[in-house]
Order: sequence, then C-alpha cells, then structure tokens
Amino acid sequence: MATTQNKDYYATLGVKKTATSEEIRKAFRKAARRYHPDVNPGDKKAEEKFKEISEANDVLSDEKKRKVYDQVGFYSDQIDPATAEAYARQQSAGGRPPVDFDGFDFSGFQGGPGQPPGQQAGAGSQSWGSFKDIFSGIFSGAQAQQRPRGPQPGTDLEYQATVDFWMGIRGGQARIQVTRQEVCPTCHGHAHAGGPTQCPECNGTGQVTQMGGRMKFNIPCPQCNGTGRISNDCATCHGEGVVERTETVEFRMKPGTRDGQRIRLQGKGNAGLNGGAPGDLFVTVRLGTHPVFTRVGDDIQITVPVTIAEASLGAKVEVPTIDGRAQLKIVPGTQSGQKLRMRGRGVENSQRPEQRGDQIVTVEVVVPTLQDERSKEIMRELAKLNHQDPRVALFEKL
Ligand SMILES: [Zn+2]
Ligand SMILES: [Zn+2]
Repeated sequence: MATTQNKDYYATLGVKKTATSEEIRKAFRKAARRYHPDVNPGDKKAEEKFKEISEANDVLSDEKKRKVYDQVGFYSDQIDPATAEAYARQQSAGGRPPVDFDGFDFSGFQGGPGQPPGQQAGAGSQSWGSFKDIFSGIFSGAQAQQRPRGPQPGTDLEYQATVDFWMGIRGGQARIQVTRQEVCPTCHGHAHAGGPTQCPECNGTGQVTQMGGRMKFNIPCPQCNGTGRISNDCATCHGEGVVERTETVEFRMKPGTRDGQRIRLQGKGNAGLNGGAPGDLFVTVRLGTHPVFTRVGDDIQITVPVTIAEASLGAKVEVPTIDGRAQLKIVPGTQSGQKLRMRGRGVENSQRPEQRGDQIVTVEVVVPTLQDERSKEIMRELAKLNHQDPRVALFEKL
C-alpha cells in the first residue's frame, strides 16, 4: 500500500479551496495536456501525475463528491453524504473529532469500481483495508498486545541485603526476603484452565462495531484480537501464568565481601513464561558498621590511644585486630595522629583468599590530667630539661 499523505486535491490541481468549477476545469485541462501519457510516452512519473490529477478532478468536478471531500477530508464512494454532513456538523460544533485523520494513509480509499455508493462503511470490503488497520490501532489499545506464544525469559530482580560487619569479613550464609514471580502452581504457566472459549465481546465473530462520530466501523474485536475465541483464564494466576510469592532466599557470602558488592544468584529472579528460563536475582550487599573497626576495602582502620610515656619512650602495646589481640610496637617519639601499618592484619580478599589487607593504626596520644603536686613538679622539670618550642615552624613559614 502506498504511503502517501491524506491527499490534497486542491494542491494537486493547483487551485484554491474556493475555486469555482470553471477554475477547476481549466486547471485540470492545463495539467492534463502536460501530463497526458500520449504526450509523455514511457514516462512513469508523468503517468503517475496524470493519475493524480485525474483523481483530483474526478472528485472536485463533481459537486456531491467535492462536498463530501470538503467535509471529511477525503473521498470515498462508500461515504454516504448524510454521514459526511453529520461528521462535519459534529466537528464545527466544537465536538472533539473521534479520529484525527491527519497524516494517515487514505490512498486505499478511492472506492473501487463496483462498490455501490452509500454502502455502509466498513462492511468488510477490500478498499477499507487501511481504515480497518487505522481503527484497530486506535481502538484496541493495549489489549491487542497479545502475549507472545513462544518462551519468554523471566526478568531479573534487584535487592539489597544489609548484613553484619563480621559477615562481610568472615563470610557465611545470608538470608533475604524476596518477592518474586513463580510459575503458577495451578496451570503450570499455561495461564488458562481449559480450552479456549467463544469470545463474549463479539460472540465469536471476531468483529465489533465502533462508532467514529456517526460513522460505523467494523474493527477486529479487541477482546479476542479478532480471533473470536478467548482463552479460559486460570483462576489462580488470572491468566498471568505466574503468581507472586515472598520467600526467604539463602545465599553464600565469601569472606572479604565488600560493601556495595553485587552478588548474582542465577535463576532466582522472576519465572519465565511458556517454559522460558527464569531471570536472575542480584543482591547488593550493604555491610553494617563496627564501633571500633572501620573497613576500607580490604584494610581495617582503628584509632589506638597511647600515653605520653609510651609515645615518647616507645613501647609494645596490645591492640585489637579482627583476629583478636596483637602486639604493636610504638617507636620512641611517635606523634599523635601518626599512622602505623600492621601488614596482613586486614581482611581476606574475596577474589584472592591468600591475599590480606592491612590494619592501619592511628596513634592518639592521651594527655594526662595531672592532679597531684608531685606530678606537676615532674612535668615542669621535664619542660625545663627539654626546651622545645613546637610552634617555631609555624613562624618560620610566615
Ligand atoms: Zn472477540
Ligand atoms: Zn495459573
């Protein structure tokens, strides 16, 4: 079928819409002389053009046809002038036109030979083919989208699982509540209880009548998609083939699983239809925090307080690690805020278990609150012996 726009016969003949029948006759004669096949032997374009102007002339030179064309926007022998009149009245009365004709292809609408004029539109004749297509598209809407017959894979699901800090480090079995579509246990995904039955909408004819303004159109029944039969929906799944169920899904977490890591659980997504494979379930892990340890990738960060004596004289102090207590050497003269690395005391890498992160210790020197006179005396003496101005560097940079 040609994909031309709704035809503008006036433009084809090059006349105004207000043209008199004499002007139309003259315009046609002029164009016909130019494009007549006898004048342009073998010229396909000219032949096409000649057909167009003839068609335009055929409608515009006939008072009755021209009137219908002006009212409806196209012409067909099948349009009864009274119907066109009613349509035009409805439009001019400000009523919303039932259908927007702009841009549609009405090329199949010329009213083929042998069509009795005034025949009710849409009685199944050939020339109404395109109209049927248009209307079935407009009226049937989403219902016309029948479920494909072949296997359809199930969709994937995305969930978040918040797990304990230690689960992320040591790994283990985690659980998550998931609402997923499962194959209907009643119909096993076939979506209907028995054989198909006659469509109640069209009584099995596959066609229904729609009104477009005051014009009647027979269109394929949107309920059964023109088949006349309708499947007997399963009562359990209402014809969906799947039911929703919330269940607990267990999954294994590797040691060293990081915050934000996405774990794929194959086949744990929504069920497929008609034997299609189920989708996958993706779980994004959210790790809980710990009051002492902070996890950064495979490293563990911790702040360890030390005394002035430990920091200045050096010491071996006991610090917590994720494996328990461990000894940490504080070198003499360690400053507050200094970071010490304990190699291999971090988290096992989830991809390479032989590889472990580090523990990063931030030293925090705790200044004692001196209560007794003796301690204060010692501190003054210490200050005298170690005459240091820690602010010298600040002034040097000014
Ligand atoms: Zn039907
Ligand atoms: Zn079912």
